[in-house]
Amino acid sequence: MIFDYVVIGGGVIGTAIFNKLVRKGKTCVLLEREPDLATGATKANSGLIHAGFDAESGSLKAKFNVRGNELTENLAKELKVPFKRTGAVVVGNDLEKLKALLERGEKNGVRGLEIVEGDKLKSLVPNLKEDIKYALYAPSAGLISPYMFAIALAEEGVINGGVCKLSFEIDRVEQKDGVFEIFGNNEVLQARKVINSAGAGFNEVSKLFKTEEFPIKFRRGEYIVLDKSDFVKLTVFPLPTALGKGILATPTVDGNILLGPTAEDIEAFNTETTECGIDKIISYINSTFNNVPLNKNIRQFSGIRVSCGEDFVVTESKLNPNVILIAGINSPGLSSAPAIAEYVVEELLKEHSEDKPMIARKGYTCEPAGKIICKCEKVGEKEIENAINAPIPATTVDAVKRRVRAGMGRCQGGQCMLDICKLIAKNLNIELEEVKKESAKSNIMFKGGF
Ligand SMILES: Cc1cc2nc3c(=O)[nH]c(=O)nc-3n(C[C@H](O)[C@H](O)[C@H](O)COP(=O)(O)OP(=O)(O)OC[C@H]3O[C@@H](n4cnc5c(N)ncnc54)[C@H](O)[C@@H]3O)c2cc1C
Repeated sequence: MIFDYVVIGGGVIGTAIFNKLVRKGKTCVLLEREPDLATGATKANSGLIHAGFDAESGSLKAKFNVRGNELTENLAKELKVPFKRTGAVVVGNDLEKLKALLERGEKNGVRGLEIVEGDKLKSLVPNLKEDIKYALYAPSAGLISPYMFAIALAEEGVINGGVCKLSFEIDRVEQKDGVFEIFGNNEVLQARKVINSAGAGFNEVSKLFKTEEFPIKFRRGEYIVLDKSDFVKLTVFPLPTALGKGILATPTVDGNILLGPTAEDIEAFNTETTECGIDKIISYINSTFNNVPLNKNIRQFSGIRVSCGEDFVVTESKLNPNVILIAGINSPGLSSAPAIAEYVVEELLKEHSEDKPMIARKGYTCEPAGKIICKCEKVGEKEIENAINAPIPATTVDAVKRRVRAGMGRCQGGQCMLDICKLIAKNLNIELEEVKKESAKSNIMFKGGF
C-alpha cells in the first residue's frame, strides 16, 4: 500500500498532524524511533497552554499560540484528556513592562487580559511576597498533560485507521516516480508526502530526504516537582527576559506543583539535572513566594528546548515540495500544536475536506480497577493492563506511567515498579529482564544480577 502521508516524530507536533490527517480521511503512518510517543521535549515541559501574550506580534509563534489555545479545550474534551483553564499571571513591579505585555497580548488577539494589584492579586496568588505589587492576569491560559495529549492524539488516529510504528529506525530513503520508499526495521514503507516533525532529530531526518537543514540550538530547562498541594492555584511567571519566560510556579493538571524551568544554553542534547540549576530555582522561588513547600519535593527533571532562530519553521521544502519541514518548535509549541496541525494540513497540504466523525478513544480507567498497584496515585491493575493492551501499547515502565500515572506519586515508583514490570512482562509475554524503563537500552533487571 502507498500511504498518502508519513509523519516522522511522535511528539505533540507529529501526533497532532497525524490526527488531523486521519480526520481528513487520509491514509497516514506515524514513525517514532523510541519505544513510546512523547519521549522528547513533549514529555518534559511546563504543561501550559499559554494565553499568547509573550510571542512577538506577527510571528508564527503568536499566531499559532492564540489559535492553539482556542482549539485545545474542545480537542482535549474529545480525546478525554484533562485540561483546566486556570489562568496565569506575570508578576512584577515594573508596571510599564507589564502594560507593554498586555498591549502585545491584545495585538496578538488574547482576550481578557488585565493588570491587577491589591486584593485581587492577593486572592489570585495568596503566597506571593508582599513587596510584589502588580501582575498581568491572563484568564485564558490553561494546563494540560503534554504527554497524554500527544498519546491521545495518536491513539485516536490509530483507532480511526492511521498506523503508528514505534521503535522505527529509518535506515535510508529513496524516491521513485513521486513515491518515497522508506527502509527501516526490515520493511519498506511507501508514501507520497512526508512531514518532518522529528524535533531534535530534524536535521538527521532532513539528511535522509535531502531537504534543508537548520542550525539547531539546545537550551536546557530544569524543574523541581512537588507533591500535590494548593501552593499556587494558577501559573505565576516573572517578567520575561531575553532567555525566555523565566522560572515559574504552576500547578499541573494533575495537582502537583512545578517549579522551573531554568534556561541554560548547552552544546549537545543532555537532560541531566544539576545542583546549580536546582539552586537557581530554589533561590528565585524563595525570593518571590512565602510558604514554599520545598519539603514536598518528589523529583527533578529537565527538558531541552530546540530552536533554529527566533520563530518556528513551518514550511514546504524548497528542495523537495513533497516534504513539509517543521523545525525549531520550542515554547509555545505545546500550546500551538493543534494550530500548527491545522495550518500544515489545510494551508500547506491543501486538504480542505470536512473533518470526518471520529470513533472516540476509551481511555484506560475502569470500574472496578482491580488490585491497587500504585498506592500513591491509586492506580489499579486493570487500568495498567488497559494501557499495556491499548491501541498504541504501553510497553515500558515510563509508557505506563505517562498513561495512568502509576509511579508518578510521592514514592516515584519505589513501591510499585516491580509489580508494573511483572504486569508488562505477563501481558506482553516477555521475560521480566526484558522490560525497559524508557529507551531500548534502559534495562531495569539483569539475569543473574550485575
Ligand atoms: C523546558 C521546556 C518547557 C516548555 N514549556 C512549554 C509550555 O509550558 N507550553 C508550551 O506550549 N510549550 C512548552 N515547551 C515547548 C514544547 O515542549 C515543545 O514545543 C514541543 O513539545 C515540541 O514538540 P515536538 O513534537 O516538535 O518535539 P518532540 O516532543 O521532541 O518530538 C520529536 C520526536 O521525534 C522523534 N524522532 C527524532 N528523530 C527521529 C527519527 N529519525 N525517526 C523517528 N522519530 C524521530 C523523537 O524521538 C521525538 O519523539 C517547553 C519546552 C521545554 C523544553
